[in-house]
Amino acid sequence: MKKKFVPILLFMAVLFTLFSGVGQAASTPVVPKLYLNDQLLKPYDDPQIVNNYTLVPIRVVSENMGYEVNWSASTKTVTIHNGQNEIILTIDNNIALVNNQQVQMDMSAKLQKGRTTMIPVRFVSEQLGLTVKWEQTSQSVFLYNAAPEDPSTNPVETSTITSIQYDSNFGIIINYEGKMGTLKPFKLDSPKRIVIDFPNTVYSDVLSSQFMGAETRIPVTDNPYISMFRYSVFSTNPATARLVLDLNTDTDADTAIQDNGAGVLTIGLTDPATTPPGDPTPPPVTTDPGTKVYNVVIDAGHGGTDPGAKSINGRWEKEVNLSLSLKVKALLDKEKYIKPLLSRPEDKFVTLADRVTFAKNNKADIFISIHANSNPTSSVTGTETYYTRDSSKALANIVHKHLVKGTGLKDRGVKYGNLHVTRETTMPAILLETGFLSNKGDSDVLYSDAAQNKMAAEIVAGIKEYLKLS
Ligand SMILES: [Zn+2]
Repeated sequence: MKKKFVPILLFMAVLFTLFSGVGQAASTPVVPKLYLNDQLLKPYDDPQIVNNYTLVPIRVVSENMGYEVNWSASTKTVTIHNGQNEIILTIDNNIALVNNQQVQMDMSAKLQKGRTTMIPVRFVSEQLGLTVKWEQTSQSVFLYNAAPEDPSTNPVETSTITSIQYDSNFGIIINYEGKMGTLKPFKLDSPKRIVIDFPNTVYSDVLSSQFMGAETRIPVTDNPYISMFRYSVFSTNPATARLVLDLNTDTDADTAIQDNGAGVLTIGLTDPATTPPGDPTPPPVTTDPGTKVYNVVIDAGHGGTDPGAKSINGRWEKEVNLSLSLKVKALLDKEKYIKPLLSRPEDKFVTLADRVTFAKNNKADIFISIHANSNPTSSVTGTETYYTRDSSKALANIVHKHLVKGTGLKDRGVKYGNLHVTRETTMPAILLETGFLSNKGDSDVLYSDAAQNKMAAEIVAGIKEYLKLS
């Protein structure tokens, strides 16, 4: 990194008279501390908090961080280079130019007391590839340079993101081609968000064409943790894609990333405050058929205004989920020691939270959610079963074994998935993805009445085997 001194002070003197009064210190003059790689920096002028954003004197960037900085008095712009990226900030303008692309900032650069250029440290540092952390208790900003990777031991393989979608059960689903590197999400405050950078990753041409300006923004309305996700090109050299999850206020979500190694990555969201660190021992299934009647919740996915995935035949997922659930219930009704309960007995919208509450209120012994899958690639086929908590694994294994027999489709296995209903419930809970509605063969099976009867019988056989009633 090059280091170059710049004649900022000269311009500052000229501007002093023009901008007096702009960017006055906040009423509570807390001076935030600034650390670079855990070393306390002592800037010439004090950093400042304005509307919850930390602003630092531009000299920190040039003198303490060693980047090239240029100031233009005529345009009131600061240009920052780090050899790879160029950031241009204009005083009191919240649009920055990053490598000639417009990027909106939450806080613009300011002139403090008309003489010191103050820049939003988080924005600039992130654009320069640094990790930024804010510690509330000590009012400190921690900046970290990413450790450079050794290219000789890490051959660069570029991957391509072909789609990014939101699914109310899974969270964010990313389809990609190539090999995905290790992802290290980090959390940022003001506003609360989780940032995930994808190293050596580019977007497909279709996705690239969607970048209107700087990023693609997708609002999310039905998730307890996030209000929006957005993705952008963070850097072109090295190629880095960036996904940002904007958290709802008052939530403290963590991500659970699962890469199937074959082009599908799911990013689930979980609440560290409510997720127990260790999984409690599963409630023992007692062989006491004389007294115990088991409450079994069958949860037909989606419904009403939430149709789920669209089948290749034009019909909706909610329909097959309900139809299969009703068949399972009808069979369970004949069982003396099982009381089946439907969380969605008809075509109506039920929130994920209400499904969980339903299971808890009914003291469910087991919870089985019924869904059908979809994939942008129509050749993807098969049956899979998801669980989140370890205490659900045994149920998942047994029911899945039967379900695969019932569908007769490819066995895609039992998988961990950070799904709302299987995570937030407290009893053994699983989610069945019977087959892919995006696949012609699977879809034909799932909408067939005969096949549904077979699937229902096998699901019931699985439930009975798990409950030791068979
Ligand atoms: Zn579904």
